[in-house]
Amino acid sequence: MCAAVFAFYNINRDKKPFVSPVIETEQTPMMSVAVSSYVPYTIAKETLNNVAKITMVIPPGTEPHSFEPLPKTVIDIHQNEFFFYTSDRMEPWAKKMSNDAGLALDSNMPSADGDPHIWMDFNNASAMAQNMAMYVAQKYPQKEQELLKNVAGFQHELTMLDRLYGKMLAQCKTRDIYHIGHIAFKRMAQNYNFNFKPLVGATLDQEPSAKDMAEMIKQIKDNNVEYIFTEQAVNPALSQTIANETGAKILLLYSIEHITKEDFDKGVSYRQLMMANLQNLSEGLGCAEAN
Ligand SMILES: [Zn+2]
Repeated sequence: MCAAVFAFYNINRDKKPFVSPVIETEQTPMMSVAVSSYVPYTIAKETLNNVAKITMVIPPGTEPHSFEPLPKTVIDIHQNEFFFYTSDRMEPWAKKMSNDAGLALDSNMPSADGDPHIWMDFNNASAMAQNMAMYVAQKYPQKEQELLKNVAGFQHELTMLDRLYGKMLAQCKTRDIYHIGHIAFKRMAQNYNFNFKPLVGATLDQEPSAKDMAEMIKQIKDNNVEYIFTEQAVNPALSQTIANETGAKILLLYSIEHITKEDFDKGVSYRQLMMANLQNLSEGLGCAEAN
């Protein structure tokens, strides 16, 4: 599924005018890299393993779409050699704050449309890792081999995830995902032939209207839906209300963009969160492994 590891040699080589390559000695301390939020953080953890120290700019538990940076955020960003973020569309604040020195990771996406949640497609996550590695290798050519190895390891995980999703979600009792949350999982749902029915739109700032709530409750009742899904950043009272009204049970999906303090401290990986999603989708939709 993933593009060849070596593809990042050829893409966007001249996109950012970097200064001449840094000559490194044995004593050179590890480079420091800042990332906007947990999506580029998880990708940096894989891609820059043993290459860089990674700092996440927004605090865990923060809504990344509409984060309001503090003056300190700008200083924090500029203390690092690189600042990576997902995209201008996803984090408009990141481009502004970094005075155009930030590097968006959304170039060369195999699957990109208006939906900013690009990382929910495994091919896109692979491209994000390649882009990140390419930017670092431009400035530190001596790290290229290590970066290639890291990217290849991550791409292998992504290939395995894609296979598992395909296999575990092939035969399900229902293909309708009723989600008490926002559109983050739409792309993933499309990739594995599910109908995704989110309660709110692009970001979690939007409160669902009473009409939308009533319509969702009606659909859940009419279709005898056994499980509904929600996400950590949504007030649990919302899904609880719907569960009480309908008798449906609640399962969590992890959007990766929102991370609790607890999960951040544990350092949960992209793979772990996607495996948790697979498990809950499989359980909630009554899926059986394909033969
Ligand atoms: Zn989102």
